[in-house]
Amino acid sequence: MTSLLDKINKLGLKMTDQRRTIVKVLSASNDHPDVELVYQRVAKIDSKIGIATVYRTIKLFEENNIIEKHDFKKDGRFRYEQVPEEHHDHLIDVKNDKVIEFQNDDIEKLQKKVAEELGYKLVDHRLELYAVPIERKK
Ligand SMILES: [Zn+2]
Repeated sequence: MTSLLDKINKLGLKMTDQRRTIVKVLSASNDHPDVELVYQRVAKIDSKIGIATVYRTIKLFEENNIIEKHDFKKDGRFRYEQVPEEHHDHLIDVKNDKVIEFQNDDIEKLQKKVAEELGYKLVDHRLELYAVPIERKK
């Protein structure tokens, strides 16, 4: 798997110590954090890094297609993840504000079929399921 750092180097983006710290945090975050949460994690490592720097760096990475922006809650509080090597979709646990990644072959096939039936070749898609945990009776 190509690391975030490899991708950044390949793009020839300038690396500073602050950026390196932000990359480290992004690489270690598998929970689709928003800018605020990335900032909190970054600040634990280097308290001199401000939220504006985190914001700008994330924006730069996003513009270079190495991290992906999600608007799961449609509230403008964007959440980020590394552009994955392999496609996955998301289930958003609206009760616990948790994001779960999944892959489902049947859904993938069905989406292709729907596009084809409409006369299109599917090139990309985004699927978000919004859900609450099922209360299991004891
Ligand atoms: Zn994801």
